Amino acid sequence: MAKDIPIVLITGLDDHASIQQAFDVDATDFITKPVNWPILDHRVRYLLKANEAFKALRQSQIRLSDAQRIAAMGNWEWHIESNQLQCSEQVYKIFDRPEKSYETNFDVFLNCTHPDDKKNLILSINESIDKHTPYNFSHRIILPDGSQRIVHEQAEIILSAEGKPVRLQGTIQDITSRKQAENQIQHLAYYDTLTGLPNRTHFKLIAKRTLDRANNEGIKAALMYIDLDQFKRINDTIGHDAGDNLLKNIADNLTHALRATDVVSITGQGTTSYLSRLGGDEFTILVDGFINSHKIAQVAQRVLEHLGQPVTLNDLEYYITGCMGIAIYPDDGEDIDTLLKHADIAMYQAKKRGRNDFQFYASRLNQNTRERLGMETRLRRALDKDELILHYQPQVSAINGEVIGLEALVRWQHDESGLVPPGDFIPIAEECGLIHPIGDWVLETACHQARKWQKAGLPAIRMSVNLSSHQFHQKNFIQNVTNILQGTGLDPQYLELEMTESVIMQQLKKTITDLNDLKQLGLSLSIDDFGTGYSSMSYLKRFPLDTLKIDRSFVTDITTDSSDAAIIKAIITLAKSLDLMTIAEGVEKIEQLTFLQQQGCDLIQGFYFSRPIPALEIEKYLIDHSSISRFSESDQLTETV
Ligand code: C2E
Ligand code: MG
Ligand code: MG
Repeated sequence: MAKDIPIVLITGLDDHASIQQAFDVDATDFITKPVNWPILDHRVRYLLKANEAFKALRQSQIRLSDAQRIAAMGNWEWHIESNQLQCSEQVYKIFDRPEKSYETNFDVFLNCTHPDDKKNLILSINESIDKHTPYNFSHRIILPDGSQRIVHEQAEIILSAEGKPVRLQGTIQDITSRKQAENQIQHLAYYDTLTGLPNRTHFKLIAKRTLDRANNEGIKAALMYIDLDQFKRINDTIGHDAGDNLLKNIADNLTHALRATDVVSITGQGTTSYLSRLGGDEFTILVDGFINSHKIAQVAQRVLEHLGQPVTLNDLEYYITGCMGIAIYPDDGEDIDTLLKHADIAMYQAKKRGRNDFQFYASRLNQNTRERLGMETRLRRALDKDELILHYQPQVSAINGEVIGLEALVRWQHDESGLVPPGDFIPIAEECGLIHPIGDWVLETACHQARKWQKAGLPAIRMSVNLSSHQFHQKNFIQNVTNILQGTGLDPQYLELEMTESVIMQQLKKTITDLNDLKQLGLSLSIDDFGTGYSSMSYLKRFPLDTLKIDRSFVTDITTDSSDAAIIKAIITLAKSLDLMTIAEGVEKIEQLTFLQQQGCDLIQGFYFSRPIPALEIEKYLIDHSSISRFSESDQLTETV
């Protein structure tokens, strides 16, 4: 209070030391004697007025400081040239640093900015200086204890009389709690409070994004709509609280189901799935980056399997199932509402059939995928139940009819369907990955059988085994072949691997290396169905191949279609120039055989000599035909080309 009262010292002393002493004890003014009373009168009046103004200024500063404290806002001023920064008390509080505890230049201020936000903050400031415009910017700052705050800055540029930027002055406000509240509101608006999954509003946003992307890239997307079976009854029985807990557990099960399915694991390849809860016991899964309906059906089945796992609640186990309807964009609808409607209709159809089932909206897909899924499940069991068998077809010398080799061809001996040909199940095995165990089984069985016949004293002939592209491109394929050869004891010179053009005309550099590595093992390599794929002639000579197998389609009409005959001639000429053997497939008639003999084809395979037959029969065949020329006088090659 005393500080607010101005003090005027009247004294006879007018030396420097006395004047200083007076001001040191807080005198406001100093008057020497003799006193000039009219002047004193004016001086006192002026002092009182100045004191009032000073008090008002102090009050205003306190009010400003209080306002800044309440608003968690500080003000600052940066002198561009000197890089000095002046800050109000509240700025230090926002940065959680004691006032004047660090040098106040602009770099210190920048160093407290979150590293990820710094670049944009500097850009905004520079733009403001360059364009003489105010700036607004929200960013994060790092406090001394490592925690973060979000601040909002507003500043404007002050120009010199010459129009040069000299100062930047602005405010900084701590908006952390506001941002947190906003985030919370956002979360409440977009997420389901019970399960934490995206809610209907959010689902629609995700769906829009997904459909837009699918549209732009010309791909499909799938919407799966799940409704739990008899959930209302369960809810009424166990009460709504327990029902809520059950829903939470089910949401977890579904999340795990998606993590465990291929859809999520191939996210990197552009496929992602999004689970949402639309309300009640309704969930949706959006698959962005659709692969094919078969894959979607696999996902659907696995999701339903996970869903069906028991949920334990208050020491009781509940078995919940659900039905799923699937609609495909754009086939079943071009907007999300139509897709939802159609997935819902499909879901009700699934419900009509019973529990725990799924249904595509397009009935065509239901049948195809259902058949395929059934086939896949049965094929899995076929391996365990030893239902796969090999048939063997002889490959015969075109010159003297001697059996040179056998091709192993797989069949599926099925209880109901009988003997299923490879064309009906190999593509499915390739799609679902079963080709690996099946391929290994074929290779091992064929090698084992060849070795067994050799041990039994039959002439040592070559065994040809077909390879699928999936097998050849498998990481440890060469090691696999090595192990099988070692395990069965078959000399590699008696093994030939058949691959189609499409298998080896991929990843050419790697293929050449892999083929060379395979060749190093001592086995032979042949191109199957040659002429039906696209071979690069320049690569053909760089592959370490032994044989070209001329596809059956050229052989069939060899005697009636001049272009087929021309193609065969060309293939044989090409093979000879590359020092490769030729085998003609599908030879059924004597005329075909004669033509091929005339063209100099080396080996013949086809029904003319034998259909593919089981091991026991081929054994007999080999005994009957070993080292015996099979041609009658008229079949014998008369002129070799
Ligand atoms: P491929 O390797 O070209 O086998 C020749 C196919 O032609 C065999 O059909 C055989 O039965 C048939 N064939 C042979 N001679 C004649 C003939 O004179 N006339 C007619 N009409 N057909 C003849 P199959 O056994 O149905 O095999 C079809 C394809 O399935 C094979 O074609 C091969 O690509 C694939 N395959 C067979 N076994 C395996 C296997 O173990 N692994 C893999 N990855 N694929 C296999
Ligand atoms: Mg073959
Ligand atoms: Mg073939």
